[in-house]
Amino acid sequence: MKLYNSLTRTKEDFVPITEGKVTMYHCGPTVYDYIHIGNLRSFFMGDILRRTFEFLGYDVKQVMNITDIGHLVSDGDEGNDKMTKALKRHNMEITLENMLKIADFYADAFKEDLKNLNILTPHVMPKASQHILEDIELVKKLEEKGYTYRTSDGIYFDTSKMKDYGKLGGIQRKDRQGRIEENTEKKHPADFALWKFDEKNGWPSPWGQGFPGWHIECSGMSMKYLGETIDIHTGGKDLKPVHHNNEIAQSECATGKQFVRYWLHGEFLNINGEKLSKSKGGNITLRTLEEKGFSPLALRYLYLQAHYRSPMNFSWEILEGAEKGLKRIYRTIRDLKGKTEGKVLRENSSFVERFKEALEDDFNTAEALAVLHTLLKSDISDEEKLGTALLFDRVLGLELDEMSEKNEEEEETLPEELTQLLQERARAREAKDWETSDALRAKINEMGYSVADVNGEQIVQKKNT
Ligand code: AMP
Ligand code: ZN
Repeated sequence: MKLYNSLTRTKEDFVPITEGKVTMYHCGPTVYDYIHIGNLRSFFMGDILRRTFEFLGYDVKQVMNITDIGHLVSDGDEGNDKMTKALKRHNMEITLENMLKIADFYADAFKEDLKNLNILTPHVMPKASQHILEDIELVKKLEEKGYTYRTSDGIYFDTSKMKDYGKLGGIQRKDRQGRIEENTEKKHPADFALWKFDEKNGWPSPWGQGFPGWHIECSGMSMKYLGETIDIHTGGKDLKPVHHNNEIAQSECATGKQFVRYWLHGEFLNINGEKLSKSKGGNITLRTLEEKGFSPLALRYLYLQAHYRSPMNFSWEILEGAEKGLKRIYRTIRDLKGKTEGKVLRENSSFVERFKEALEDDFNTAEALAVLHTLLKSDISDEEKLGTALLFDRVLGLELDEMSEKNEEEEETLPEELTQLLQERARAREAKDWETSDALRAKINEMGYSVADVNGEQIVQKKNT
């Protein structure tokens, strides 16, 4: 197994700490809103790592945190606190209790998204709010070893005390870290908060009431569930310069041991060539997709088409293409099922080998999909084709078995009344009669279907119940 390690900037052979086992930590979401399909690409990457390792016979332990706390004050380390923004958006008083309530709501929505994208639930999904003591212990260790200092708003990590600070790259010690209000009491621009004071809200600590810094949470949770040194840590590439360098700094200075052996970073999902992000108004969530009638698995199929270290461009047309391609695969699987009924399925070792080779090359899912396509077009027996495709799906996670049947039901039961409504709606849209078009859409929705207009075509889909 070869993987690209951001720490050494090379493709390396993967050698686990314990033979046959993999410990992995993924930086999870801050649950202040529904997450967008850019965030989901990063979490999908974690799923591919886990499924690949399991496919190759490794015993995987996977942890993904949920950041359910903010600082409830606008702070210099990260700009405006996201959880505070969420409370304001919901017109809720800024209290710890309300913050946890909002976070729970969006954490549930996040877990729902993972399920819909067929992302396997990580073995542990710790919440930051339930690990304050672990964070405090770490800060205490750093304090004892002389890595910290106090300012009027918190306890800070002194980056000048660590020789190889920033070894992951992307940051210089002189880099300014705060995006909005810089804390002028910091000794060096790259120093970061380990604990932030908050007299009104927050948890008690030896230094005063407040909140742990964002970076320390990940170190605390990773060490608690996976030990002081782990095999793999992942996140989107934006986390690399600051968050991950800071995780390394505080963890390695506290324990004296290497924190993570392999750092893997995912490229962005872009829209019009720019990173999809909430602040740029690109707030496309799985809910948006479903409202437009797309299946979340079409997005999964789209993600699979690019290597995780390649930027991926998103547009509705591209997604529509993916959905059509996926449906073609479902139809092929359905045909194969019909032809092989009652027969024993087998796996074709040469195709399995090619599939493994693709994944062992730094999780090349694009190549793995190409192997699936070649397999389906090949002239090997139907039993082997189907058996091998279903085996591949343990990694691809496209639900080939279940969805190929579901698809058939949906196609067969498209009611006549619905077809008529769609025709009427097409005529209304041609005449630019938007009012009638909307009224017809409402009727179609009432019938349990959604309709999206893509490239002048109506795409209709049964809503998930
Ligand atoms: P956040 O909640 O902002 O910390 O983001 C959660 C995860 O999503 C992090 O791993 C980010 O790197 C990742 N992420 C954010 N935007 C994108 C994007 N447009 N494409 C891919 N990953 C992203
Ligand atoms: Zn993290």
